[in-house]
Amino acid sequence: MKKHRTDQPRASSLDAIFRPRSVAVIGASRKRQTIGREILANLVEYGFNGPVYPVNPQADSIHSIRCYRTIADVPGLVDLAIVTVAKDQVLDVVAACGKKGVRGLIVITAGFKEVGKEGASLEAKLKAQLRATGMRMIGPNCMGIVNTEADVKLNATFAATAPVRGNVGFVSQSGALGEAILADAVETGLGVAMFVSMGNKTDVSGNDLLEYWEDNDDVQAILMYLESFGNPRRFTTIARRVTRKKPIVAVKAGRTAQGARAATSHTGSIVGLDVASDTLLEQCGVLRVSSMEEMFTLAQALANQPVPAGDRIAIVTNAGGPGILCTDALIGSGLTLAELSPKTRKALAKALPPEASTGNPVDMIASADASRYRAALELVTRDPGVDGIIAIFVSPIMIDAYEVAVAIAAASRGVKPVLSVFMGKRRSDEGVAELRSHRVPVYRFPENAAAAMAGLVRYRTLRDRPIGRTVRFPSDAARARKAIASARRAGRTMLSAREVGEVLAAYGFPLAPSRLCSSVAEAIAAAHELGYPVVLKAASDAIVHKSDLGGVKVDLRNGDEVAAAFKQIVSRLRSKDAKLLVQVQRMIGGGREVILGMTRDAQFGPVLMFGLGGIFVEVMKDVSVRIHPLTDVNARSMIERIKGFPLLAGARGEKPVDLPFLERSLLRLSQLVGDLEDELAELDINPLIVTGSARTSFVVDARIALIPRP
Ligand code: ADP
Ligand code: MG
Repeated sequence: MKKHRTDQPRASSLDAIFRPRSVAVIGASRKRQTIGREILANLVEYGFNGPVYPVNPQADSIHSIRCYRTIADVPGLVDLAIVTVAKDQVLDVVAACGKKGVRGLIVITAGFKEVGKEGASLEAKLKAQLRATGMRMIGPNCMGIVNTEADVKLNATFAATAPVRGNVGFVSQSGALGEAILADAVETGLGVAMFVSMGNKTDVSGNDLLEYWEDNDDVQAILMYLESFGNPRRFTTIARRVTRKKPIVAVKAGRTAQGARAATSHTGSIVGLDVASDTLLEQCGVLRVSSMEEMFTLAQALANQPVPAGDRIAIVTNAGGPGILCTDALIGSGLTLAELSPKTRKALAKALPPEASTGNPVDMIASADASRYRAALELVTRDPGVDGIIAIFVSPIMIDAYEVAVAIAAASRGVKPVLSVFMGKRRSDEGVAELRSHRVPVYRFPENAAAAMAGLVRYRTLRDRPIGRTVRFPSDAARARKAIASARRAGRTMLSAREVGEVLAAYGFPLAPSRLCSSVAEAIAAAHELGYPVVLKAASDAIVHKSDLGGVKVDLRNGDEVAAAFKQIVSRLRSKDAKLLVQVQRMIGGGREVILGMTRDAQFGPVLMFGLGGIFVEVMKDVSVRIHPLTDVNARSMIERIKGFPLLAGARGEKPVDLPFLERSLLRLSQLVGDLEDELAELDINPLIVTGSARTSFVVDARIALIPRP
């Protein structure tokens, strides 16, 4: 009987794939250079700790191993089947695996959704088979996986290079890059715990792997090459949690694909054009890097060295030039050069020749040998004003590089990070091996070491940042939904000014008092009632940016001015909308204009924006962005991160605006967006005029666009 899985599979079920007791290679081939053959050879040569069964109806033995005609013929249990058969045989093979009781699959075969509609339907059938049997699958269209764990030793790839044992978990969405990644890992001395080429992610996703590795002590740093987030919401939740325990470094290819979509709001056009997913990734604690090279640079440090307690770095070098390059790179990435204590400097002066420099960088000059490295590193490492150390050694011919490496490795004791730039001449290779065996990363250039140190500091900041809490305010979702329903009934996706007011009022936003008027007499009466000065605005569903069309007249001080403004607006804009009304609004003085907005990111869902507002917002683009939902900490940092923050905090002796009110307003917006997420496409509050007090701060203009319904 078929059983359907309804709940999320438990991550530990991935053990069938990563820690199988036995493996079958279906589609193993006698021909060299074929995928099936290479995988079989890799499994055997890497020394898999269990039986390996080749399956091929045309062969009796492959690679000196007895071969079976079908998976059903394999005696005993098979945990993992690696499928390399032609794509039109995959469904039959997978069905046979299900019958056999196989629990995990790696489908290498390509030709599924990546090739179009027909492939996609084949893939859907494959997925249904998994559902029915409860088997888990990596792929299809992938290059396999590696688990270097000593009691597993599974190299289920057809890659030419096998990684060395280490503690990095590597996920690649691109199969082609996988080969290069494995080769580079060996080259740079980066040890790997597990490597996964994801392929089409039909079943096992990057998110599943994050969860699988979350509490796996073998994996101390997670590296991801991503092209897309399958389920970004789940990714953000998981990543937020995992990055508290271990770093995640991601190369994300491609920026958010939203810029192309026509936006009807400021938030839409600004966020779509300018914001890459790195802000969003950082919010979940993920370190985004822009190249594979940068990923390897960071990974070596993150996987092998402790995170520094602060950002004060000391450089110990035998050459001035590299020391200066390193200094510049450190400062360029926002770190500081540690100030060595007088005590350290005195001791250094004693240990080093008089020509040496005892400041930071500590330049020991070219004659420095292992004993001098040892003495200087010891002193610098002990200085309480130093959080991390970069040791540089460049190629004097007379010095034994291996001995220097031993001295540098001795400074790495797991409390403060030690990174090295190592370019010796004599016994250099042994030196590099010695450093790596003590988990001291070795870089070719000072800039790389500085970038790696910056990565360590960045991770520490992300890991230790307070998350904050989400806050709820009294609200009236039903009132907001009623306003939305009235727009839907009228067949509009743009809410009218009245409807926008209802939605915002339902979430406690203070709206500038106003009246909608259809005649001069009504407008003058409204102005008297509201109190001068007032503002007149064109109120029409057909007009988006009112001031662009001369539809806003501010600072009107008496009835005559109101009458004149009314006539001007109407004569200018009635042609655009025969049913045009005029809004009379109280003039809000003495504040700053800010924008609060929401748009949808194709990958991350609702995104919230804050910035300096008004009619120049799209020129200045001084905004910050966060993924919904916001915590109080997120809201505060959004406000503090914009360049114009001093204008809000009270620059040049001016009075500051009510910052807690702004923070609450962002949290109210986050709550509103959460409640009405199924309806909202874009929302702009622009401007909210914020003064020194919440009581005199008001929303004077806002716009809400709904998700179009078919
Ligand atoms: P739009 O964005 O459609 O051009 P707004 O209502 O935002 O129209 O008005 C444009 C600008 O006019 C605002 O950025 C603000 O500078 C000013 N303004 C509008 N209403 C008020 C008001 N009630 N009090 C003070 N200034 C206002
Ligand atoms: Mg506006």
